[in-house]
Amino acid sequence: MIGFDLSDEQRLLEQSVREWAAREVAPHIAEDDRQHHFDRDRILGGMARLGLLGISIPQEYGGAGMDYICLGLASEELEYVDTSLRVIMSVHGGLNCLTLLAWGTEEQKQRYLVPQAQGTRVAGYALTEPGAGSDARAIQTTAVKKGDRYILNGEKSWISLADVADNFLVIAWTDTDKKQQRDPSGLSAFIVERTFAGFSSGPMKAKWGILAGNTGWFKLDDVEVPAENLVGKPGEGFKIAMFALDQGRYTVAAGATGLIRACRDASVKYAKERHAFGVEIGQHQLVKEMIAQMESDYQAARLLWMRSGWMKNEGRRNTRETGLAKWFATVASERAAGDAVQVHGANGYSDEYPVGRFYRNCKGAVIYEGTREIHKLMQADYLLGYRTDRPTRCELPPASQ
Ligand SMILES: Cc1cc2nc3c(=O)[nH]c(=O)nc-3n(C[C@H](O)[C@H](O)[C@H](O)COP(=O)(O)OP(=O)(O)OC[C@H]3O[C@@H](n4cnc5c(N)ncnc54)[C@H](O)[C@@H]3O)c2cc1C
Repeated sequence: MIGFDLSDEQRLLEQSVREWAAREVAPHIAEDDRQHHFDRDRILGGMARLGLLGISIPQEYGGAGMDYICLGLASEELEYVDTSLRVIMSVHGGLNCLTLLAWGTEEQKQRYLVPQAQGTRVAGYALTEPGAGSDARAIQTTAVKKGDRYILNGEKSWISLADVADNFLVIAWTDTDKKQQRDPSGLSAFIVERTFAGFSSGPMKAKWGILAGNTGWFKLDDVEVPAENLVGKPGEGFKIAMFALDQGRYTVAAGATGLIRACRDASVKYAKERHAFGVEIGQHQLVKEMIAQMESDYQAARLLWMRSGWMKNEGRRNTRETGLAKWFATVASERAAGDAVQVHGANGYSDEYPVGRFYRNCKGAVIYEGTREIHKLMQADYLLGYRTDRPTRCELPPASQ
């Protein structure tokens, strides 16, 4: 059986991220959120210095070589302060770096993974398009082989770090017949650099959550991508995209767990400060009920992501368990944030207190990396025997310790 104590390394990592985020980010986050400002230097610079941008990447590829529980702990601590921080762990660390680690060629690892893990380059993940989210087979982006290059055309939307990342893992059709038939074995994955001619990006307008983070679109107009930037083999793009989601969802689950804890802590504090009917509001049983629910959700969400992290450490397939952890934690975080605003009454309805920001931020994670509905269907399909996980050609390497 397994133990529930963190190792010294895990505890130290948790403590360092908690202290850095409290000291360097928390004092500025409300203003950054108000101004829709992504503080690139403070956030990415600080995360790089702490080694977070390559936390679970082996040292031989420029990373910190920590286990996957450390990746989860960092995600939880970062989202305790603001979702925008954890999003970086999800798209750069989870969706991109871990995918390159498992599926990239040695040359791709040296060229892209090493600087990404060292924090000198930032990476994103681009599957979604204006007409295709949950239904990934409906994407329209194409990649046509011409000699030793692919010519990419298309538009990606709702891409985290679209205006910030140096390179993206882009999913596109390489087989037009299969595109017509919606056969996902016609999809392939590419590394596309921002500096490639024909690439342009911009922010999503009127976004109302994760305002201190960057979310945008990019267009690919006849972008020439060297054939050596194909990740995996032609036709493996869908498998790679799904593999990436196993890693991203893990960080989303752990992050949403941190958001529940933030809601719980803010609510406990406020319930002891605010008085109604001659007593602290914490004395009212219906307020206690909301706070108790936050604790139960926090503890259950943490156990679920830790189980996924443990399975990753062991090198076991965890698509099903990670999906459950992500679904549970994100839905619970929405409940916690709604109740945290409720506990704060009218003050919760103002950005004078952090819970309004938590309420806006939590909703994204109920939508991205598999909506609540898609995860519900997946879990039912596993139980009903309609879905099983087949081995993939490349797997995440187990943790080295
Ligand atoms: C803040 C933010 C950041 C994001 N970052 C990224 C990123 O970095 N990279 C990236 O590729 N994408 C990103 N996304 C996009 C995200 O992954 C998609 O929004 C998500 O996959 C859902 O797709 P959609 O928005 O097109 O909704 P749709 O797929 O159109 O779904 C709309 C509604 O229909 C429901 N629905 C759809 N199909 C079914 C079904 N079969 N059964 C039941 N209900 C169904 C959905 O659950 C949802 O409620 C981000 C989104 C947000 C909000």
